[in-house]
Amino acid sequence: MKRGHNLYIKHAPIAAAARAERGVWRLAAVYPSPQSGQSAARRVGRAERVPSYEPAGAYEAYAAMHDDGTAVWVRYIAGAPAVEPRPSSMTYRVCDRGTSSGYQGVRVVTVTVAAECPRCGGPRGEAKPHRFHEDGDWYVVDRWSNACGHVEQYTDVLAEWRKAVAELEIADRRDAIRAMRAGPADAGEYTEAVLLLNAAAAQIKSLHARQAALFLDMRGHSEAARRVQEELKARDGRMSARQAALFLADLAATRAACTRCDNGRINYQCRDGEFISLRCKACRKETVPNA
Ligand SMILES: [Zn+2]
Ligand SMILES: [Zn+2]
Repeated sequence: MKRGHNLYIKHAPIAAAARAERGVWRLAAVYPSPQSGQSAARRVGRAERVPSYEPAGAYEAYAAMHDDGTAVWVRYIAGAPAVEPRPSSMTYRVCDRGTSSGYQGVRVVTVTVAAECPRCGGPRGEAKPHRFHEDGDWYVVDRWSNACGHVEQYTDVLAEWRKAVAELEIADRRDAIRAMRAGPADAGEYTEAVLLLNAAAAQIKSLHARQAALFLDMRGHSEAARRVQEELKARDGRMSARQAALFLADLAATRAACTRCDNGRINYQCRDGEFISLRCKACRKETVPNA
């Protein structure tokens, strides 16, 4: 791949190939910097200065780390039915054989990692369960194959996950201090959900927000679970259960203080006399417009 300022990319054949296989991600180009890659990814979706991707909204793109820079991956999404949204993370069961050279046995660890291949930024493959027998026991782990062809080792995936957990824990500790300062949990309508999450997070170390959302849904807090999932997506899959609890508490406080809306909806009358009712973005309430 040519590097530097005079990066010349032939978008037309890439756009045509993507169009021929709707919903399938293709590597469009590798840019020298994250900024140029991210800007290109944004322009593909809007078909801005890249006419090959017209009309706007027909293609979707994202930028991700690549061995040689920042890759831009594109796919064609126009038409029905809607394509599956890109996952914010992947969850796999992997073998942990420890770090020493001798045989230590095997432990199955469930990890949540980026949705992209760390070598080229292409989408990681779906988990496929694999059962095996070792040292008198049966185990189930996941295997996956990446469409890009890069083969991943469990040790590398474990290292990626541990690094992400360590980063989360630093953020978590910061947030825990903030929560302590805020005093006893009063999270308005989410108080029960927040108490549940904090109790679960105290029990299970490094509990992820994805598991937290499943747990809330199971316990009947489905609206809170959906808000957590929404926020998890906005944070690119990086959120712990504790942070989810704080997010819900913040959301409840925002709702209580919101003066922009009427119980989660902004209602107004247009100049042509039509009544409009919009969902309040600050409250994020699930409400039906008044008939
Ligand atoms: Zn790859
Ligand atoms: Zn509001």
